[in-house]
Amino acid sequence: MSTIFEIGAEGRHGLRLPELDFDEKPIEELLSPELIRKEDPKLPEVSQIEVVRHYTKLSKMNYGVDDGIYPLGSCTMKYNPRINEETARLPQFAYAHPFQSEEFSQGCLQLMHELSQILCKIAGLDAITLQPVAGAHGELTGMLLIKKYFEKRGELQKRKKILLPDSAHGTNPASAAALGFEVVELKSNERGLVDLEALKAQVDETVAGLMITNPNTLGLFEEDILHITETIHDVGGFVYYDGANLNAIVGRARPGDMGVDIMHYNLHKTFTTPHGGGGPGAGPIAVVKTLAPYLPVPLINKSKKGDEYFFDCARPDSIGKIHSFYGNFGMLVRAYTYIRIMGDEGLRAISTNAVLNANYMLHRLKSVYKAPFDRVCKHEFVITSKGMNEHLRTLDIAKRLIDFGVHPSSIYFPLIVPEVMMVEPTETVSKKEMDYFVDALLQIAKEMKENPEILKSAPHVTPVKRLDDVRAAREPVLRA
Ligand SMILES: *Cc1c(COP(=O)(O)O)cnc(C)c1O
Repeated sequence: MSTIFEIGAEGRHGLRLPELDFDEKPIEELLSPELIRKEDPKLPEVSQIEVVRHYTKLSKMNYGVDDGIYPLGSCTMKYNPRINEETARLPQFAYAHPFQSEEFSQGCLQLMHELSQILCKIAGLDAITLQPVAGAHGELTGMLLIKKYFEKRGELQKRKKILLPDSAHGTNPASAAALGFEVVELKSNERGLVDLEALKAQVDETVAGLMITNPNTLGLFEEDILHITETIHDVGGFVYYDGANLNAIVGRARPGDMGVDIMHYNLHKTFTTPHGGGGPGAGPIAVVKTLAPYLPVPLINKSKKGDEYFFDCARPDSIGKIHSFYGNFGMLVRAYTYIRIMGDEGLRAISTNAVLNANYMLHRLKSVYKAPFDRVCKHEFVITSKGMNEHLRTLDIAKRLIDFGVHPSSIYFPLIVPEVMMVEPTETVSKKEMDYFVDALLQIAKEMKENPEILKSAPHVTPVKRLDDVRAAREPVLRA
């Protein structure tokens, strides 16, 4: 396919501007000489229809949740209901200006206040900020709260360590290390869970906190979670819950009841706001009472009389702002819409069906691909291609899956299982779609024996063949 610079022709343009009804001034009168370009910039010269066709073609080369199954483990790529878009586009929300006064923003404030309360209830926690714009941003905010707490108590010098399991998402250690904490990895036991002995060996008064995902990134519920959180609390540390896997337990179990002190929600995972290309996301964090004074400003509050919402800025211990204004407001509208439509029963149905679907796929796949932890999983599971054909890698399987017209699952994460594939169907796929995906994987397993070359050269049906991803990352070419 051509780039936009290769189509069109000299002098062609996309819209006709009206004739000037005033005298044009020479550019030299308007700008100082060093600001004036010597040559015209090389811009595409294209007609309107050429632009439309170009981007329509490009969009058809893409694959998204609206195309079909997208079982990217850990990412919860589920369908984004269109009603979310409708409410987000209501002019009262879409055109609300962030500098608008409280008086003229009561509807927006009410929505944020109600969403805050609902999310706290889902988590079983006391207070919340909607400001962080990604899960990773929520993690960083959570670590800032812990840091501030110990700073206030004069214990920061001593509280150096953040513990996390070796199955943790890469953002966890990054968030802790970014604030100067020493990251200590806990190895998982043979059942894929936090090794309690390894935990015990690290727990002392130098621990500021533990970051944990439950169910973890292997799709397994940490059965000893109560013991784990108690162990951390016993030495005065905090437990941070990475809520990326909330889809597995929403409406059924609450992190607050597990002894968690801080958690983030990924509204773009569990609560169906679009993932987008790197954003905009939303990663609110909820906390226990002890940490509430440190939350970012402003919080959204309701007056004592209950008739007015306001920005609560008078919070002297706050860590300050961590994003402009109030976070990605449009995403808050979408998540609020989704939650209100689902209701209690609907929220419970999410986890029921997400877990059922994952177990169905695991059950069908494990006769051919090895399941390193062969037990009932939660909303996602891991399988491995190790031992199936020593000349092929899981990467080859993922590339071959593209030829079947589906999006591959996550690969090589979590890091503790070699040649891993991590599958998360979510609750919004049908049995037929899951069967198609499983059949494709079973077919590929056959090809691994009978026709390995077809895997090595995959994908075959895409506009570009296999890319050199390492080179793309090391030597990116960002401009033509
Ligand atoms: C997605 C994810 C994150 C990070 O969330 P972002 O919103 O992408 O920043 C953290 N932990 C886990 C387990 C995840 O799956």
